This record gives sequence, structure tokens and C-alpha cells, in this order.
Amino acid sequence: MNSAEIKINYSLKAHNTFKLDVYASEFYEYDTESQIIDFIDKGHLTGKEFLVLGSGSNILFTGNFEGLVIHPKTYGISIVNESKDKIEVCVSAGEIWDDFVQWAVNKNYYGIENLSMIPGTVGASAIQNIGAYGSEVSDLITEVKYIDITDKKIYTINNKDCEFSYRNSIFKTKLKNKVIILSVNFQLQKSGSLNCEYTGIPEALSCFKNPGLKEMRQSIINIRNSKLPAPEDIGNAGSFFKNPVTDNDTYQKLKKDFPDIKAFYENNSKIKIAAAWLIEKCGLKNYEHYGASVYEKQPLIIINKNNATGKAIFEFSEIIRKKVFEKFGLNLEPEVIIL
Ligand SMILES: Cc1cc2nc3c(=O)[nH]c(=O)nc-3n(C[C@H](O)[C@H](O)[C@H](O)COP(=O)(O)OP(=O)(O)OC[C@H]3O[C@@H](n4cnc5c(N)ncnc54)[C@H](O)[C@@H]3O)c2cc1C
Repeated sequence: MNSAEIKINYSLKAHNTFKLDVYASEFYEYDTESQIIDFIDKGHLTGKEFLVLGSGSNILFTGNFEGLVIHPKTYGISIVNESKDKIEVCVSAGEIWDDFVQWAVNKNYYGIENLSMIPGTVGASAIQNIGAYGSEVSDLITEVKYIDITDKKIYTINNKDCEFSYRNSIFKTKLKNKVIILSVNFQLQKSGSLNCEYTGIPEALSCFKNPGLKEMRQSIINIRNSKLPAPEDIGNAGSFFKNPVTDNDTYQKLKKDFPDIKAFYENNSKIKIAAAWLIEKCGLKNYEHYGASVYEKQPLIIINKNNATGKAIFEFSEIIRKKVFEKFGLNLEPEVIIL
């Protein structure tokens, strides 16, 4: 390994969607699986603080990263299994998620189209079990291949062992900071029907005559463009908080005090409360904290409105959490990883 391949004091401004001007002490990017395996084998990660950084679309840096950033640039989609009805593909961790969605839609493979336009890489999609518009990636993942940086061995785990739940997986719990995902396998269908149940989709699809996968993808893109800020224009990391999940008793009590509360029924009599509604009701829509604010069309998204620092964004998120807790007694858990 040539030590010149590790860049020193490297700017992460182009590698985080909050567009924060922060630096990594060291930065290493690799193009092939064998490069990262070799890198780990030679002990370059041993005893070091490290971070695997995809597109940085789910991370808030509150300052410089005093450690080694590992950045996968591994691309490729290959067919693992194929039958009359289904296809299983293996996708490299560094692939851009939405390029993969576009690829599947162009091939007429069903299952992934509602997850159009989510920023980030394929490797990271398994970390927080990305989801949108009535779909979650855990419905499609068959297995995940990773390298364990402690024993330097490669493992493949199946969907069940990934312990997926709402914006969560084993990679955020037991395997946190212990592995580097190398590739993810997905099962897609060769025929199927569109998943139109989510609010807004039927209206968005109504302008197409016989909508298929391409029209569904376009509708999702249209909805997202109308609601979410593009990180190229306004720094953000999507939803900053998870929607809090409560039991029916708590929900009924809240509903008594706040009859217009927005909520969705989950499985096992759990109720998901809309965090955006909670934030809006705290009067935080037009609030600004040292350049950090919430997006006017979607208060669940914290934006870097006016050259905010990562520290200011974090402080603002804590103000939101405090106000929501004081008013509703609910604890907002960040979806974004705070470093
Ligand atoms: C405008 C916008 C809209 C968004 N909309 C949605 C949405 O609808 N639904 C949704 O679920 N999310 C959404 N997000 C969040 C984000 O896109 C996803 O969480 C995405 O999967 C992050 O990918 P990334 O490559 O940027 O990961 P990063 O932010 O770089 O990393 C996230 C975490 O994954 C780890 N990681 C990344 N790659 C690997 C790897 N190969 N091996 C091990 N660990 C790894 C990192 O260390 C970090 O802990 C949105 C973000 C933005 C900016």
C-alpha cells in the first residue's frame, strides 16, 4: 500500500449534503473490493478512528473528523439468479442508489421504483433501511456482504439477520463502526403492480394514461421535487428526525389535547406520529438559529439556510427536541448520524 494514497487534511465540503466546510485528518478512497480488503489486511485501520462515508447525505459533522475517512467508489450491478418471474442482483456498495433505481426501472424490474431519487449510495441504503412512499429497502434486500474490520474476514448475512426495522438495522446497532459493507443483493420482480397507496401518488399518477414503472418513477420524482430541498441548492440531510412511534394510550391522550394531531397506524397497534406536525405546532417554522432553520415546505428537514456551522445545526436540532418534548412529552430521535 502506497501511503501517498491516503490524503491528509482533506476537505469534506463536497462529501456532505449539509455542505459543511469540515476536514478529515485522513481520507482514503478505493475503486475495488480487493483494494479495501488489502488496506485492512495491512493494518491501516487498526487502532484508528474511522468513518465509512458514502455521499454524506445522512450525516451531520459538528466539526472536523479527527480520524480516517474511507470512501467507496466501487461500482457494478451483476445478476446472481434469474427465473421467469424474478431476478436477484448484486450491487456494489459505492453505486449511487438512484442510478440503481433508474437501471431497474429501465429494465422493467418491479419493486424499487417508489424509492426513486433518495440520495446516497447502495451500501448505505442497508444501514438505515431507507424508505419512502410506502416502500422500504428491507423488502428487497436478500443479503449483505461486508468485511469485519476486527477479524478481517468477509461475511454474508441474509435479510433476517440484518434485523431491519424502521430506519434501523444491525449495522446501526451490534455491527456499528465494526464493518464495511462491500455489496448488497436485491430481489426484483419481472412483473407486478404499482404500489400507489401512499398519499399523493394517485394524484401524481393521474396525468399519465396507462402508468407503468417509468411513470411511477417520474411521479415520485415530481412529488419529491415539489416537497424536498435539493441539497445542491440548500444544504440538508433529508428528514432530521424519525417519526416517534407510540402506543395507542399515549396517542389517545395526545389526541384529546391536540385533536388535529397527524398520525399513521403501524403494525402491532403502534402509532407513528408525524414529527413534521409536532415541529410545526411548536412554532418553529420560521425560527432561525445561527443560519440553521427548517425547510418551509417540510419542517422535518433542517436546512443550512445561511452558512450555518455543523455545531449551530446540532444546537438547533436540540432546541427542536426540547420544545417538542416540553409540549407533547415525545422524544424525537435523530435519523441523521451526528458526528
Ligand atoms: C434531500 C434528501 C432526501 C432524503 N430522503 C430520504 C428518504 O426519502 N428516505 C430515507 O430513508 N432517507 C432519505 N435521505 C437520507 C439519505 O439519503 C439516506 O440515509 C442514504 O441512504 C444515505 O446514503 P449515503 O451514501 O449518503 O450515506 P452517508 O451519509 O455517507 O452515511 C450514512 C451512514 O452509513 C454508513 N455507511 C455508508 N456507506 C457504508 C458502507 N459501505 N459500509 C458501512 N457503513 C457505511 C456511514 O458510516 C454512516 O454511518 C434523504 C437525504 C437527503 C439529503
